[in-house]
Amino acid sequence: MRKFRMLVLAAALVVFGASDVLAAVQYVTIGTGGVTGVYYPTGGAIAKMVNKKRKEYNLRATVESTGGSVFNVNAIDAGDLEFGVIQSDRQYQAYNGSADWEGKPVTKLRAVFSIHPESVTIVANASKNINSVADLKGKIVNIGNPGSGQRGNAEDLFAAAGIDVDKDIKAEGMKAAESAGMLQDGRIDAFFYTVGHPNGSVKEAVSGATKVNFVAVPAEIVKKLTDKFSYYAPADIPVADYPGVTNSSDVPTFGVKATLCTSADVSDDAVYAITREVFENFDEFKTLHPAFANLTKESMLQGLSAPIHPGAMKYYKEAGLVK
Ligand code: GLU
Repeated sequence: MRKFRMLVLAAALVVFGASDVLAAVQYVTIGTGGVTGVYYPTGGAIAKMVNKKRKEYNLRATVESTGGSVFNVNAIDAGDLEFGVIQSDRQYQAYNGSADWEGKPVTKLRAVFSIHPESVTIVANASKNINSVADLKGKIVNIGNPGSGQRGNAEDLFAAAGIDVDKDIKAEGMKAAESAGMLQDGRIDAFFYTVGHPNGSVKEAVSGATKVNFVAVPAEIVKKLTDKFSYYAPADIPVADYPGVTNSSDVPTFGVKATLCTSADVSDDAVYAITREVFENFDEFKTLHPAFANLTKESMLQGLSAPIHPGAMKYYKEAGLVK
């Protein structure tokens, strides 16, 4: 029996590597979004910070491309993902049981920190003369796949503008990664993407032969949305990030924040390690994506509506960020 155990251990050492077997390494996966968005490189940046210290923490973080915020909430709830990047509005709705989670709140959802701001970005084929939300009537619009965050933002916007998604527009449900190509090919007239700037998808959309413009959300509709929903705030789409777009100044819209979430079932150690490495190496973290340029440690504790995971809270108290 003893010989057998030694053999199993020897085999495990060969297959998994000595340090993993001896120290019981914990593996965690961060769910993100499409590879041309900001969530995917954000997950990569977070994983990079903590994996540098993998020996110290016995933790390995990997990143998965997913359908977006709603998918990530549900995968965390099911225990299929340990972490996910999730829009702040989706975090609120999931924890409080509204919108996609009406009557079924995700009570084990926990907040870790906020990340970059995201604006509800409407990108249109410039030849279709879509200059305001009302001009989307009768058009083919990709409002996003059901697992995405933007789909609900598009629905909220249309409701506030008195536009019936089922009757007044031809709504498509494709993933954001497909939108730019479809807009360039003339298969859709416009698409929604709730995303940080700059990002690969929108860059791809503005740099083809088909001229494109960003569609403004009128101030009175932004006000209606921010009055009704605490998680929405006015936002702008920065045109300087997108040479080739036909708009000449920043485009007003509304927005949310990207946040990192986890489950109450995930260990304090894993959440502590990730939080600590991002905050203790904050200047380096900020260089990992241009959408992180204006982050402050304080801003990363705003926009959280689910309870903060105890592993993250342990770090915030140690660092004096929370009293
Ligand atoms: N906000 C989008 C979503 O929740 C994803 C944006 C991104 O991938 O950067 O689906």
